[in-house]
Amino acid sequence: MPSTSRVSVIAAALVLGAASLSACSSSSSDSELPKNPSVIILSGDGMGPQQRTAIQYYLYGLDERQPMDALPYTGFLDTIPGDPEYAVTDSAAGATAWAIGKKVPNGTTGLGPDGESVPTLLDIAQDRGMSTGLVNDHDITNATLAAFGSPVPDRDLKVDIAKGYLDRGIDVLFGGGEKYWYPEGEPGKIPDEGEDDVSEGDENLVARAEADGYQYAYDQTTFDALTGPKALALVQDSAKRRSTEIEGYDYNTDPYYVAPEKLVSKALDILGANDKGFFLVIESDDLDSDGHEHDAQNMMLAGESVNNMVKVITEYQKDHPEVLLIVTADHETGGMTIENVLDDGEPEPNSDQIADDPVPYWAEIPENMPLPGGGVPKRSGPFPIKGTDREFKVDWTTPEHTGTMVPVTAAGPLAERFTGVHPNTYVYDVITELWGHN
Ligand SMILES: [Zn+2]
Repeated sequence: MPSTSRVSVIAAALVLGAASLSACSSSSSDSELPKNPSVIILSGDGMGPQQRTAIQYYLYGLDERQPMDALPYTGFLDTIPGDPEYAVTDSAAGATAWAIGKKVPNGTTGLGPDGESVPTLLDIAQDRGMSTGLVNDHDITNATLAAFGSPVPDRDLKVDIAKGYLDRGIDVLFGGGEKYWYPEGEPGKIPDEGEDDVSEGDENLVARAEADGYQYAYDQTTFDALTGPKALALVQDSAKRRSTEIEGYDYNTDPYYVAPEKLVSKALDILGANDKGFFLVIESDDLDSDGHEHDAQNMMLAGESVNNMVKVITEYQKDHPEVLLIVTADHETGGMTIENVLDDGEPEPNSDQIADDPVPYWAEIPENMPLPGGGVPKRSGPFPIKGTDREFKVDWTTPEHTGTMVPVTAAGPLAERFTGVHPNTYVYDVITELWGHN
């Protein structure tokens, strides 16, 4: 879209935001709001209410509230897409609802309901002179982040998504998926392991990024050296972390693995240098993959990463009260439920029927599926509730996403807006309202 029309659409969006503000009562008066507010959206992909509860029980117990649920304001968001056929969203439509404030059909990635170009929150942030960043514990070119930073007609156009990030000059790009940034035949910096890892780009986008002024990191040492203001890190994605089950692999000693909370900490260091503020979108993609695979064990480990990222951000907010943090999900994945292990002394049978990928890539036999005798599948429990003698197991109803509402928790300016039940497009409404103040 030509920049002039983009600016005018943005101006209209901000006027609308301001108009809706004056029409509603606010517990934050204008004078209390910061002049240059920053915004962080942290999405646990597929993290529904039961996932959040299981993570709480298993890792934090009953006495200590997990960091993502300890934020001061809580509400719910619906997840239904603007689709003529489907009641349940995919990640692309879910993230687009946040990014442009409109419900769109499934598969739509950052474009309007009719496939038209519209300004995303990231465009609006850039027009305000803010710094922008995208962070993922998995491929950075995944649909959720692309909806903000590189709208495309098809979410699978990963190489085009990478190019779009560079075209927009997004300041911080941290995540996995190196293979989309190098042309076929060039393995990149991280040794390829298997066919899935082979480069599939058509030009060296890392070289292009460096020519554009990006610093580039591919392992812990080069990552620690990043100072910005523009930085690209293509490191080992956290799917490898789940492979502690792979014999001989230990992510703690993998030089190419950088923990998600370290990615976030560095992003804040770099983006926080801009006096006009920043807009950062973070996705934990692992939660969704684990839901599709019915792997509760690793889903909860991914949830621990989400909490670690929240801890880094809430620590940062102590010195930066102008930062709004929103923690939510695009949808639930797997129809997960928490169940008793025993009922009247008898095993409560799992009704789990099928997973997207029942055989995890590190194993040769299904580990996530119901056992012939009706016991608890290996990756469904029983799990202890931390600090108690009680246990729970999980069960699943589908290998796909479900249509439940998802929790949203928030801290910072206008965080109180998230109290109550709202459509998922409300994320866009609150953020444009916050920015419309200036
Ligand atoms: Zn999914």
